[in-house]
Amino acid sequence: MIIILLGPPGAGKGTQAQRIESAQGLVQLSTGDMLRAAVAAQTEVGKKAKDFMDAGKLVTDEIVVGIIADRIEEDDCKNGFLLDGFPRTVAQAEALDNMLGQKNLKLDAVVEMQVDDEALVDRITGRYTCADCNQGYHDQNLKPKVDGVCDNCGSTNFKRRADDNRETVSSRLEAYHAQTAPLLPYYNGQGVLKTVDGMAGIDDVTAQISDVLSGLN
Ligand code: ADP
Ligand code: ADP
Ligand code: ZN
Repeated sequence: MIIILLGPPGAGKGTQAQRIESAQGLVQLSTGDMLRAAVAAQTEVGKKAKDFMDAGKLVTDEIVVGIIADRIEEDDCKNGFLLDGFPRTVAQAEALDNMLGQKNLKLDAVVEMQVDDEALVDRITGRYTCADCNQGYHDQNLKPKVDGVCDNCGSTNFKRRADDNRETVSSRLEAYHAQTAPLLPYYNGQGVLKTVDGMAGIDDVTAQISDVLSGLN
């Protein structure tokens, strides 16, 4: 199965992708996570991407298309994958269609997560993750069961993203509306677009997505 989770920054894509990954055995491919790893490792890609990311702008199509093209060749993608944060422009979507076409694969569904802009700002400014296992949390909405201890791995180290601040959020939302929202009519035209209410609670959204996935064959 090949699925895209589509939605604005902070919509809950990463949260749901982690859950679907464990429930459905689909690998999560997050271009944001891959780019942050490249920035931390100071690779050529990371050096090119850093300024765009810090400013809340999209990195070039060439960079992310290259990353995804390489990644889907790896063995763990053979049984399907879940794209989180890619594609984000029509040019990226066209590049993905070409990649899949060449491998005789088809996109099963694009799940759009609808969330109001005001809620997104709260979600993004309250977001943090485990520094060891990447499990996601939120200051108000999703706290670890034991204060300061990761539920998943027991770590006491947490981190926040450099771009998760109020100033950068507005340029990220602008980038979403201007460059990514055109993917909605693009995929609607292909007949693969499914919409879920991302304003609902985390478990409810997971249930809505499971319903969508179980309706596919
Ligand atoms: P994205 O990957 O789309 O940027 P995340 O999955 O990282 O979004 O979610 C952003 C923040 O909002 C995280 O701190 C997460 O815990 C929280 N969150 C995710 N889904 C919900 C939800 N349905 N309701 C409330 N908070 C949520
Ligand atoms: P969000 O939580 O905002 O959805 P991501 O972790 O997906 O954020 O992405 C963080 C940043 O990485 C983006 O603001 C952008 O600079 C860059 N990025 C990630 N994926 C893409 C992509 N497909 N195209 C262009 N830039 C990307
Ligand atoms: Zn952890």
